[in-house]
Amino acid sequence: MDHFQIIDGVLHAENVPLTRIAADVGTPVYVYSTATLSRHAQVFREGLINGGIENPHIAFAVKANPNLAVLKVLAREGYGADVVSAGEMNRALAAGIPPKDIVFSGVGKTADEIIAALKHGIGQFNIESEEEGRELSALAEIIGKRADAVLRINPDVDAQTNAKISTGKADNKFGVGLHKAPAIYARLSALPGLNMRGVALHIGSQLLNLDPLETAFTKIGKLITELRDSGYTITHVDLGGGLGVKYKAEDNPPYPDVYGEMVGRVTKGWNVQLMFEPGRVICGNAGVLLTTVIRVKPGAGNLPFTIVDAAMNDLARPALYDAWHDFEAVEPNGERFTCNIVGPVCETGDTFAMAREVDKVAQGDLAIFRTAGAYGATMASTYNSRGLVPEVLVHEDKFAIVAERIEPATILAAEHVPDWLD
Ligand SMILES: *Cc1c(COP(=O)(O)O)cnc(C)c1O
Repeated sequence: MDHFQIIDGVLHAENVPLTRIAADVGTPVYVYSTATLSRHAQVFREGLINGGIENPHIAFAVKANPNLAVLKVLAREGYGADVVSAGEMNRALAAGIPPKDIVFSGVGKTADEIIAALKHGIGQFNIESEEEGRELSALAEIIGKRADAVLRINPDVDAQTNAKISTGKADNKFGVGLHKAPAIYARLSALPGLNMRGVALHIGSQLLNLDPLETAFTKIGKLITELRDSGYTITHVDLGGGLGVKYKAEDNPPYPDVYGEMVGRVTKGWNVQLMFEPGRVICGNAGVLLTTVIRVKPGAGNLPFTIVDAAMNDLARPALYDAWHDFEAVEPNGERFTCNIVGPVCETGDTFAMAREVDKVAQGDLAIFRTAGAYGATMASTYNSRGLVPEVLVHEDKFAIVAERIEPATILAAEHVPDWLD
């Protein structure tokens, strides 16, 4: 459920008409709903608790939407943060998320990032290789700390999602192979700078089927038994994120209660602190990308092109993953037409939809791309010397700019011509 609904003929975010935001802030602009973010955070937690998981540790995957105000909303819901860079860690800290609730994931943590994380006392390192674990231990010793850590396992399951967001196959870069895991775990446990306390996994994103997760969790359950039989104390297991969301009408994502039931069933008797790293399921449907129709151009073929002022640099998912985002007029007139929807960027990949039946729009009309709250603004670039898209957060009948538009002139001002060219 989200809070983007038509009220008196105009699409609103909560109680704010999107026409007002467009008039105030201009377009393109991302618009997030506080109520939707909070609701999703609560529903995800309740799903786990109803599944029998007492006191789950939930760390929002910051990469899905790192906006400071969004993190603040989730911090208020008691969420921690899953971060994959020092930049994300600093955002989580700035949002007031306690260091102990921050989990540091990622295959390429640099020494500088590890040191910064150790100094801040972040709660857990998800180690992705033996080499990283050795480096972490050495750095922790220098600082005089012991790092709480878990080993990320690559369970070699096919997440049945887009190849570019699949992370748990043997040929993906993440984690260590299941068969090598016990030996690596043993060697890491012997290191003085580490407190090895469990394992982690994350097999991919936008999962619409729970079977791959269940298969992966079952493998992890066996590994836990094996590690315990070898004398290791396993107290923490991080089950990652990955739950999919509804992008189009026929998508049938598993709802958090169904997920919670499965997790509760598979992890029964594990006797560990379970940890979760949801991203998309929390924020995907909590945001839309608001755009203006620049013009509608007849195509060389038989369908017109609706050219909007948002582009692949603002919302990369269609170009990157052939992703679908519903397109709707802010003030629909009841008519429909079939068109291609594209941005102004000079790339054929700058296409949001082909031959799609949508609300009939014309030059100057406002429209939205739905389900743009996850992996939207965070992936924005300045390609074609466009500005960086701003972000707005709505709360009931109020809204605030929570990330300013970075104008092309500001970006230009950071570039310099060396004196030998003058
Ligand atoms: C991206 C990522 C997540 C979040 O994935 P979603 O599909 O957005 O839930 C969680 N954990 C790790 C390690 C990730 O890389």
